[in-house]
Amino acid sequence: MLASVHPHNGPIKTVHRKVIKSESGSSHTIGWKGGREMAKCEHLASDIPEAPPSGAEGCEECLKLGGRWVHLRKCTACGHIGCCDSSPGRHATAHYHATAHPVIRSFEPGEEWRWCYVDEVAG
Ligand SMILES: [Zn+2]
Ligand SMILES: [Zn+2]
Ligand SMILES: [Zn+2]
Repeated sequence: MLASVHPHNGPIKTVHRKVIKSESGSSHTIGWKGGREMAKCEHLASDIPEAPPSGAEGCEECLKLGGRWVHLRKCTACGHIGCCDSSPGRHATAHYHATAHPVIRSFEPGEEWRWCYVDEVAG
């Protein structure tokens, strides 16, 4: 059985678009010029003393869940120890999302760098 399909079956509805007139077209800001200035991170510059490490012997979540980590990161705000983004759990990043604590420090021996999640800068 051959169903005949007409390309134009059914009435074509004419859409009447309402044109909303903007009475005040001048209130929005006109785009940035030349993008952002070199990011200046107030979090890394902050002189609030860092929290000491929590004392966990590894990533706190991985220890609870029995997971494994690759590298460790310490939250400078509360001392939470979490695993890096090369680890399956990515618990340092998860900690940032859970708490909004912006800065981590490497918790690897001999590594001194810090990272701000908010501004995405190292320092
Ligand atoms: Zn920052
Ligand atoms: Zn972990
Ligand atoms: Zn924290």
